[in-house]
Amino acid sequence: MREDIDVLVHEVGPRDGLQAVAATMPTAGKLEWIRAEAEAGVRQIQVGSFVPPKLLPQMADAAAVVAGAIAIPDLTVSALVPNLRGAENGMAAGAHQLGFVLSVSEAHNQANVRRSVQDSLDDFARIVEYRDANEAYRHVALSGGMATAFGCTIAGRVEPAEVMRVAEALVALGADRLGVADTVGYANPGQVKALFEELYRTVGREVAIGAHFHDTRGLGLANVFAALEAGVREFDACLGGLGGCPYAPGATGNIVTEDLVFMLESMGMRTGIDLDRLLRAREVMERHLAGEATHGAYAKAGAPKGFVPASAAAA
Ligand code: ZN
Repeated sequence: MREDIDVLVHEVGPRDGLQAVAATMPTAGKLEWIRAEAEAGVRQIQVGSFVPPKLLPQMADAAAVVAGAIAIPDLTVSALVPNLRGAENGMAAGAHQLGFVLSVSEAHNQANVRRSVQDSLDDFARIVEYRDANEAYRHVALSGGMATAFGCTIAGRVEPAEVMRVAEALVALGADRLGVADTVGYANPGQVKALFEELYRTVGREVAIGAHFHDTRGLGLANVFAALEAGVREFDACLGGLGGCPYAPGATGNIVTEDLVFMLESMGMRTGIDLDRLLRAREVMERHLAGEATHGAYAKAGAPKGFVPASAAAA
């Protein structure tokens, strides 16, 4: 964590948001949006996913977007990779951080990537090996992401013990950091606080852990608060809550970046992000979206009278 911020807000809209919308945003549009968010003070952005283009045509330009984004000063550029092939491409493109994701739920992992959780862990081991064997890529941070950590649309309940088992395995294999995702919006704040507390007891506080929440059932920011209480200081979010929920048509999906920033800044936690400029970045994104639905309360209501963001107070 950099010293001038208290919480890292990781924008994942250009990946998580865009992969869920039908239309493909042109590369130049993605980069204009990414630049606008970086100018607003966002320090880390997940700009794409290195998946086969025929599976996700929206992500076919991932290498070009990474190449454009790494030229932006003070921005950590992350990308999602589903397997070794994707990781090779992501590293070659110059991404600073790669997120590998598996589902803790065996049934969900089978449905999603057609392999067992153990096979996915073996995949992650190969990615770490590849990174370590290549001098030029040693600086690339590898994040081990755990999807469906709070529940699964197929299996329903996911046991915390399973999350711990997968987390320990990822760390043992060489994950630099962990990500915990409520992929389908099942989590509640009590569960979140308990799971993260157990996770820190299991892997230790030295391992950076990020949280990925969805607002599918209205508990997104309540879950952020619970995770903050447990000590989590990194959160994924999508500008304008882009992307919806693939499991619940019409429902909101990812938590909204500008609402998250407002909550953190009003609680006295510095994100380094300027909300006015973030709203301008939202306009840039919307201009390139061709009518796709966006969400968010802060964009509608604006700042309350007398609001002093923590980042401004500290400056
Ligand atoms: Zn998501």
